[in-house]
Amino acid sequence: MSVIQIRGEQLKERIQKIMLESDEPPRVPFGNKTKFFNSHKRCMVCGGERTFDTRTRMVERLYGHHVRYFPPLVAWVHSKCHKKIHDPENPIILYIQYEEGDSQRYYEQRKQRSSGKNTSEALGV
Ligand SMILES: [Zn+2]
Ligand SMILES: [Zn+2]
Repeated sequence: MSVIQIRGEQLKERIQKIMLESDEPPRVPFGNKTKFFNSHKRCMVCGGERTFDTRTRMVERLYGHHVRYFPPLVAWVHSKCHKKIHDPENPIILYIQYEEGDSQRYYEQRKQRSSGKNTSEALGV
């Protein structure tokens, strides 16, 4: 009956498909409730794939940038693109949908729940 509802379902399917594109789960687990904006194989900012470092022969890992904390929404980005998001002079506000202090509140809550034993915070940026 409602068109909006159908659209929502399609969007959900599409997002699931994008998430299934990845052949491996993100190495760093975020909280169960965390949603992901995009596949961790592609950078949300420039649309590029992960870069391959010919020197170390390692694929550069994308960083999980928190677009929002309540509820948590994470976008995968290159480290250089992540810097662009947080550029103090010209931040990409499209990817910053949280209020000042949200991140602090979020990590404090997570710490309480996980009693500080997980290291995932290091990549949640
Ligand atoms: Zn990028
Ligand atoms: Zn960030």
